[in-house]
Amino acid sequence: MTKNLIFLGPPGSGKGTQIERLREKHQLAVVSSGDIVRNLAKENQDYREKMEKGELISDEILFHEISKRLETERTETGLIFDGFPRNVAQATKLDQILSEHNRSLSGVVYIELDEEEVVKRLSIRKVCGQCGQPLFDTEICPKCGGSPIIRRDDNEETIRNRMRVFLDKTLPLVKYYQEKNKLIEIDGKQTIEAVGNDISEALANA
Ligand SMILES: [Zn+2]
Repeated sequence: MTKNLIFLGPPGSGKGTQIERLREKHQLAVVSSGDIVRNLAKENQDYREKMEKGELISDEILFHEISKRLETERTETGLIFDGFPRNVAQATKLDQILSEHNRSLSGVVYIELDEEEVVKRLSIRKVCGQCGQPLFDTEICPKCGGSPIIRRDDNEETIRNRMRVFLDKTLPLVKYYQEKNKLIEIDGKQTIEAVGNDISEALANA
């Protein structure tokens, strides 16, 4: 099964947990824009300064790094894109780069969660005490095996703002992939198990 996937989901949707589960189950490679930026910052002082100031790296550099990953990862194994694309321009460019590497997008998993549920989940948020991965309905971090701690630093207004920013950025992408018949909508207001099952079921038919 070769699956090249994009994951979209608001904060609190458990997107990271689901990506991790899928990666393990199907030995998929994860191409994360966050990891790309962190690796660049490790190697290069200029990027390190940019990252510390919270500046974004240019699309050109990001796509260069993604192309390198597409060249080195085995083609028969699928990829999951995490934190990327962020807008329709990047989505169009990603389609182009994938086809240059003889790959195509299998589907875009969108884990939906309404604002009230996001607020509810994030105001008492459990994260992994070791790596910071958000944890829901689980006592063991799927990434590193660490235990959850409760973080109460998110106030309601901040959470609502983050949700609005997420929707502003993401809804145009959702529409873009809907029109291409690539969108897989998943009800995120379920347990981790149920969300995982829905994703597996949808991907079996994708
Ligand atoms: Zn962890």
